[in-house]
This record gives sequence, C-alpha cells and structure tokens, in this order.
Amino acid sequence: MADVNGIIAGGGLVGLTLALALHQKGVKVRVFEAVKEIKPLGVGVNLLPHSVQNLAKLGLLAEIEKVAIKTSSLAYYTEDGKTIWREPRGLEAGYDVPQFSIHRGDFHMILLNAARERLGEENILTRHHFSEFTQEADRVTATFIDRQSGKTVGTASGDFLVGADGINSRLRHLFYPEEGPPKYSGQMLWRGVTEMEPFLDGRSMFMAGHNDLKLVAYPIRAESATRGKSYINWIAERRIPSDLAARAADWNETGSLEDFKPYFADWNLGWLDIGKLFDNALSIHKFPMVDRDPLPKWSFGRVTLMGDAAHAMYPNGSNGVSQGVLDAMTFADLLEDATDIEATLQAYEEARREATAKISLANRQTGPELVMQMVKDQCPGTCGETHSCIPQDTLEEVATAYKKLAGFDKQSLKTAK
Ligand SMILES: Cc1cc2nc3c(=O)[nH]c(=O)nc-3n(C[C@H](O)[C@H](O)[C@H](O)COP(=O)(O)OP(=O)(O)OC[C@H]3O[C@@H](n4cnc5c(N)ncnc54)[C@H](O)[C@@H]3O)c2cc1C
Repeated sequence: MADVNGIIAGGGLVGLTLALALHQKGVKVRVFEAVKEIKPLGVGVNLLPHSVQNLAKLGLLAEIEKVAIKTSSLAYYTEDGKTIWREPRGLEAGYDVPQFSIHRGDFHMILLNAARERLGEENILTRHHFSEFTQEADRVTATFIDRQSGKTVGTASGDFLVGADGINSRLRHLFYPEEGPPKYSGQMLWRGVTEMEPFLDGRSMFMAGHNDLKLVAYPIRAESATRGKSYINWIAERRIPSDLAARAADWNETGSLEDFKPYFADWNLGWLDIGKLFDNALSIHKFPMVDRDPLPKWSFGRVTLMGDAAHAMYPNGSNGVSQGVLDAMTFADLLEDATDIEATLQAYEEARREATAKISLANRQTGPELVMQMVKDQCPGTCGETHSCIPQDTLEEVATAYKKLAGFDKQSLKTAK
C-alpha cells in the first residue's frame, strides 16, 4: 500500500518487531515508547521456530545467533529428577531454523538497534506515553504525555494506530474500561539469572515439579558458554492463592530468596545444584502469573491491539513473545497487499484473535506442562529413572497438540514458508 503512515504505541519487543516488519514493506512508521530510555530489562525468553523463521525474514538471525543459546531439547522431570518426557527442539528436532533461549534485554537491544538504524532515530521516540486518540474518516490522531509530569509532549496523526503497549495497555483500557487489572492464576513466579557450571548438555531447557511447586531453567547467553559457563535463567513457581489479583503486574519488582527457596529444600534433580542456583542469583524478580481474558474485538476502525496488549498469556509453553512476533508479521503482510486500512485491521484481527485466544485458554490448563501434573496425580510411585506410569503415546499427544495449537509443529511451519 503506497504512502501509508503508521503510529505504534509501545517500543517493547512486539512494537519494535512491527516497526521493522512495516519498514521492510515500505510503510512509514513511528514508534512512541513511554519510558525515557529503553534499557535491556527482564530475564529469559524463548523464541520458538515459527517466530525465528519470521525474524530471519527481517534479517535478524545473525545478530540473535551471536548472543543467544540454540535450545537443543525440552524435558520435564519430577522433583526427584526422574524423567517424564523429553523432546528435541529447534534444529535437533529437524526444523530449518533454531529455537533460541535469549535474554529479553539482549533481544530488545537487537530490535532497537536495527529499528534505529533502519527507520532513523527520529522515528523511535521515548518519553512518549500514549494517553488518548481521536479518529476521523481518513486518519487517527494520538496524544502522548510525559508519564512523570502528566503533561502533553506531542500528538501524531497517521493512517493507523497499533497499541503494542504491553500487559497494562492504555489503549486496551480505552476500549475496555471495565476490565480491571490482569487476572492472577494463584501462582507466584520468582525469576532469576545465575551464572554457574552448565547442566545437561548446556543447551537444554527443563521444567520440574507440578502445579503447586515448579522449577523451570534454561541457559540464555552464548558469551557465557564460550567461557565454559551457563548464564541460567530460572523461574521458581509456587502456588499462593491470595488476593494478589488486585495488584498491577510490575515486571521490575524485586523478589526475596526466603519466599521460595525453603520450598525446594528436599528437591534433588541429581545434575543441578538447586541451592547454588538460587543462592548465586545475580538478580531475582517477583511477578505474579497473570493473563488477560481473550477479547471479543481488537480492531476499531483504524486502531488495533497487538502483542501482550491484545493477548497477555501465561508463560507455560513459552509462547508470549513468539505470538507477538507472528501478530506483527501477519499485520505487515496484510498491509502490503491492502487497499483499505480498516479492512486490513479487520483481516489482521481475523487471522490472529481466535488463534491467540485458544493458546491463552490452553495455557490456563497449563499447556504442555500438563504432563507434569498427570504424573503427580497418577504415578503409583513404582517408576524407575524414567516415568512409565503414563503411556508415551499419551505424553506425545499432549506435546504435539500444543505445538499444533501454537502453530509451531513442523507441518505448519513448512506450509507457512
Ligand atoms: C520491563 C519488562 C521486563 C520484562 N521481562 C520479561 C521476562 O523476563 N520474561 C518474559 O517472559 N517476559 C518479560 N516481559 C514481557 C515480555 O516482553 C512480553 O510478554 C512479550 O514480549 C510481549 O511483548 P510486548 O511488546 O507486547 O510487551 P512488552 O515487551 O511488555 O512491551 C510493551 C512496551 O510498551 C511500553 N508502554 C507501556 N505503556 C505505554 C504507553 N501507554 N505508551 C507507550 N508505551 C507504553 C512499555 O514501556 C514497553 O516497552 C517484560 C516486559 C517488560 C516491559
């Protein structure tokens, strides 16, 4: 579509991916980010093969490869280190592209540097918190404020506005003012990073435990591996059904060791010193496992939602970032061939809303992690080093069904090429 001019509210992972995808299609676009300075925050995230395939189209694969870990396998264990299910991932599983485990901040900086270089620094504006918009027949105008002072810092007019402003999205709030804060699952997460000796093959991701107490870990930095170490991202998860639902989800809240470490005291995986993992943490953040209900509608005229603003989901299945990348690429592809902006925003919603709603709802049923609870509920205690209480076919069915739902089974990827 010629001479199109877009506005993106939010310069997070999805806002910047969208900016790069639109720029590649020749669409003029500006990103308006609320914070004063975009910093490399957060800990680990996963880029599943379907998003990697798309990030490769944006020419980002080499940069990602330099810093990230190519995940070789995903395995589920019980708390005494017995294997429930293990599957190869990425290249090891026969995909054409790797699955990456990466520091969110490293990935964010790759996107930011590419966006500044390709779009020009002047088109990535910080200290611009989106606050309101108005819409006319042929344009949309957004107003931005300084979050600290509350003063207006500018307005922007364009052909469309995309709200990629995260789980506490202002744009979503304008469409759904009654919605309230994100929904608490009853599970609290402590997320940390620790540099120590590698576990398993140094490129594996594992999950251990069950719905009430869980540990997830995976290495995320290639540089650390060159020194014979692993920069391990870990998540300790404990059920705390309380009134935390009312709290806003804050990615920057710090966490305390004593709130979770004692609960893992009698765990023994055999190949990872869990006490050392926790004690040597370089940082610990606390974040309630929250999501949002699927919405009946994302696109309103020339305005739409994307990424967490549209479909914040539980991290089970490691799909949050990847689904946002798919949103962005779908939107850009549709706009390239479009003649009508409003119809394009509707088509984008049709392609992505139901698909992501299904994943959000599956994640509420613990997604692929279901296999851990199945063993917890059904194991008679007589299994050897590998659990045999649940037939392998059943475990495989759970794993395959989730991959299909989330669009990263091998067949879906071949078709999408
Ligand atoms: C600081 C931070 C740390 C995170 N750490 C992790 C992590 O360790 N692991 C993990 O799995 N996920 C983490 N996430 C969430 C993860 O990035 C998202 O789940 C996923 O990548 C979807 O990306 P997104 O761009 O939709 O949302 P986000 O990555 O959350 O990006 C939203 C962006 O919008 C900006 N913003 C918010 N409101 C406005 C507004 N009104 N106007 C303009 N800009 C606005 C935010 O500052 C942010 O940059 C973190 C998010 C943030 C913001």
